Amino acid sequence: MMEPLIKGPAGLEYLKKAFANRYGPPTDAHTSLPLTMQWLSSVHSSAEQEWDEYKDSVSSLTVNNERLYQGLPPTTLRTGGSIPMASRLGSPSSKGERVDLLVRVGLLKLVNEIGGLMLETLPETLKLNLSRLRGVQSQFQKIIVIATRSLYSMMEPWGLSLFPSERIWRARVPPKVAFFAWEASWGKVLTQEQLQRRGFSLANRCFLCLSEEETMDHLLLHCIKTRILWNLLFSLFGISWTLSGTVKTTLLGWNGGFVGKRRKKAWQMAPLCIFWSVWKERNRGSLAESHSSLLRLRIWFSNSLIANVYLKQSLSLSLSLSLSFFFYVLMRPIFHVYVFYSVLVLRQTLLSENMVTTAADMENIVSSCIKQLSKLLDTVEDVGISEIVGTISSFPEGNNHTLNPEKLQARKEVMANMLGKSLQAGDAIFTRVSHTVYLAARGIVLGGNGLKGRQLAEAALRRIGASLLTENVVEAAEVLIVVTTVSSSVHGAWYEELVKNL
Ligand SMILES: [Zn+2]
Repeated sequence: MMEPLIKGPAGLEYLKKAFANRYGPPTDAHTSLPLTMQWLSSVHSSAEQEWDEYKDSVSSLTVNNERLYQGLPPTTLRTGGSIPMASRLGSPSSKGERVDLLVRVGLLKLVNEIGGLMLETLPETLKLNLSRLRGVQSQFQKIIVIATRSLYSMMEPWGLSLFPSERIWRARVPPKVAFFAWEASWGKVLTQEQLQRRGFSLANRCFLCLSEEETMDHLLLHCIKTRILWNLLFSLFGISWTLSGTVKTTLLGWNGGFVGKRRKKAWQMAPLCIFWSVWKERNRGSLAESHSSLLRLRIWFSNSLIANVYLKQSLSLSLSLSLSFFFYVLMRPIFHVYVFYSVLVLRQTLLSENMVTTAADMENIVSSCIKQLSKLLDTVEDVGISEIVGTISSFPEGNNHTLNPEKLQARKEVMANMLGKSLQAGDAIFTRVSHTVYLAARGIVLGGNGLKGRQLAEAALRRIGASLLTENVVEAAEVLIVVTTVSSSVHGAWYEELVKNL
């Protein structure tokens, strides 16, 4: 959109004039640019902190990576391809100058939002860049989705053949899932209500919401926790649907002729999957009597957000793929989440201790660690953090013998700490991955698309095993540098005026 206009200084002058004609002189900025004002002040409070964090990561980079990167040519960088400004201006890294920093961080935060950018709410100074920024936004969302998926396949290397998303489509649901739905619809499942009828005296309380009475219909259809899943499902299919009162009538009325041939299988599987997931959850909750079920439903929900993003943004991945991913995630037992975080912790520890030198070694260690963890989780009921840490701290195998007892103990404590933090409510996989991608992008946006920025991005992505995506992050993020550079030259006077009173 603005490409033909930014060929040189004359182009910038032209843009400046056009902007002044539309919004008046910089001295009027406070009244004429309310959205820009709002945008800058929303970034204002965090920009300093972002800058400090950035500088910290630069200095730790120098310490950690000097050895690794010695001998590399200082400029293996792309010049920004078809985008003329980045190369013309040479060094696009930030010096931390106030307006420049605010615009860079502000742009990063804009494209990091989940919802699509809208012309009406975009700052006045950026309106010409709407489609460009939307493009960056969807690139970041794609990267997040790919990174998350690759994490799943990493934590379960053999699982792709056992439970591939394709197979969910071709096969029907597993027999036990179908069987459960059949039982539920005939009222044969042992809920508390059923137990009471048989003469057991129990406080009949739903284990998910902890407030309503537990009946099969409440649990599987009407509980507010279950509703999250149903609503998500309906929004994925883009329909509104009223659930019937009972499990049986819901299944009887579940005709999906309108969803189309391609989505029909998913539609048919959906209620069975939800019943099964909720039932598994309920039994875990009732055994442990804990609130952890809230966390798990939230984790499902966050993961499903990824699928949701596909649909809302109409990204290139097909509808069927995103839906199968949704069910794939939905039907995963909780212990995968433990395995997932344990593997992250192990990777982080090994990297920080410089225990592993090649990617292939790392993959081997990770995959045998996953096998041992899965065995542990399958055979031991109520596995706690200490058992998990006991397993992961023994990697690389034989490590226990070479470390002295105090050192091993310290290592275990660090791991337990990290794992505990990771499993805290809200820190779901999606949040984790998207934050990492944000940090990687910040490395580029503040550090430039040269070697420094690249190293920062790669270091961030490596923590989730996604360093292969560095180039994609660079490509998306360098557009933001260009937008910053152009916008600062064109709107600099207006920005200065607005920033004065922050
Ligand atoms: Zn409930």
